[in-house]
Amino acid sequence: MAAHDDKLKAVISHAKEYGFVFPSSEIYDGLSAAYDYGQLGVELKNNIKNYWWTAMTRMHQNIVGIDASIFMHPTTWKASGHVDAFNDPLIDNKDSKKRYRADVLLEEYMAKSEAKITKEIEKAKNKFGDAFNEEQFRATNPNVLRAQEKINAVEARMKAALEASDLVALKQLIEDCEIADPETGSRNWTDVRQFNLMFKTELGAVSGDAGIIYLRPETAQGIFVNFLNVQKTGRMKLPFGIAQIGKAFRNEIIARQFIFRMREFEQMEMQYFVKPGTEMEWYNYWKDARIQWHKALGLGNENYKFHDHIKLAHYANAACDIEFDFPMGFKELEGIHSRTDFDLKKHEEFSGKKLRFFDPETNESYVPYVVETSVGLDRMFLAVLSSSFVEEKLEDGSDRTVLRIPAGLAPVKVAVLPLVKKDGLPEKAKEVVDLLKLDFNLQYDDKDAIGRRYRRQDAIGTPLCVTIDNASLEDNCVTIRHRDSMKQERIPIAQLHEAVREVTGLNQYFK
Ligand code: ATP
Repeated sequence: MAAHDDKLKAVISHAKEYGFVFPSSEIYDGLSAAYDYGQLGVELKNNIKNYWWTAMTRMHQNIVGIDASIFMHPTTWKASGHVDAFNDPLIDNKDSKKRYRADVLLEEYMAKSEAKITKEIEKAKNKFGDAFNEEQFRATNPNVLRAQEKINAVEARMKAALEASDLVALKQLIEDCEIADPETGSRNWTDVRQFNLMFKTELGAVSGDAGIIYLRPETAQGIFVNFLNVQKTGRMKLPFGIAQIGKAFRNEIIARQFIFRMREFEQMEMQYFVKPGTEMEWYNYWKDARIQWHKALGLGNENYKFHDHIKLAHYANAACDIEFDFPMGFKELEGIHSRTDFDLKKHEEFSGKKLRFFDPETNESYVPYVVETSVGLDRMFLAVLSSSFVEEKLEDGSDRTVLRIPAGLAPVKVAVLPLVKKDGLPEKAKEVVDLLKLDFNLQYDDKDAIGRRYRRQDAIGTPLCVTIDNASLEDNCVTIRHRDSMKQERIPIAQLHEAVREVTGLNQYFK
């Protein structure tokens, strides 16, 4: 089994064992690709939301939030293009009966060639050391050139086929590349078909087509239809943004890889309304701002990269993804899209209402352009969890499993631990609990030896443990133990609140 499968499995089982993520309705054997967040998962999720919401709304005076309904008037989805165009090309393997996304099969095929190139480069780097010039190597090495040519050719044909919605050409490309079912190796494929990803349901008393309603496949449309409400009531001037966190639903053809791809998930989206003609400037601004937001967490700068879209969505004039090195490899974590005036114009057209901004500087009304940032909350959760999960060997030869979750996001910020369960120590510890509990999520634990209690806190990513011992009764000091360094320091209880805030506050990410 590949190492990345092992890593993902270890993360999934750790997440379950410690109350982060459970399979949905597990007592009925679960529902595929549906998960429940447990007692620690919900805390981590809320902290990620809070970090995003703070970065968007508090750090930008011109960005405000909303919380729109999941159900929307069905014409919304006609106008947005989702009824006609929110499709994935699917293909079935006739032997294994497994279903795949045709574009994903091709992307995985290209990724294999990409991996070959990376390997050649690594080999050469080791051989030539400091003298190595990657650019020159890429331009001259025959193996790299061959692999790159192959990628370019497949990419060009895939782009042309997707843009023309030419499903026959897509199938032909899969055959020409001799792509086999990744699980069984069979090349016995059906034709490629389009599959709409929106979930449909029916509205209460109305029957037939008139009652059909969709579960929103993205939160963005709730922002667009409220553009004027917010602009007018908030007296907003361009450029300004509307942020929203909420559930979205997509009937994904294959949903797997834990919480990476689910049919019900949560998005954190921000639509930034700008003057037409300035959108590329803002697109670049947000690319930069968003990568900084991610990197500030300290999960490792090498874990992020930008990926420009091959095929632009029907609404975009520029688009890229921020990819993260998940246990399954680099995959999309966030999308940044320059959506032009597509959505607002379409809503004008379908609703007959004007969705314009009156620019007092030029005395003109126009439909603003939009730059969108859209990050999956669940994917962000997986990025944090998987990259912070470490099994380490300590100097004394023992093992410890630790979640090095960025302290500002950690579900439990501090554990309060009386060294023994007698001599007035629990009472003193309760005082410490009272001092901290309003501002910090904490756990009180007085069971087992102190070493075992530390390990339990390491396993759930608690950045700080506070130990109360007999001396604490005399000197009103406690010992703070840091999760990552395992270093200990003794400080007065009077300074504890500030010390915990310093280590676990969000301000450290906004320098
Ligand atoms: P993908 O190519 O992986 O299907 P997408 O390009 O369709 O994703 P967007 O429409 O740009 O995704 O959605 C914005 C963000 O929402 C994504 O970057 C991702 O983090 C998240 N997201 C999208 N689909 C899912 C899903 N099925 N499960 C969890 N998160 C998702």
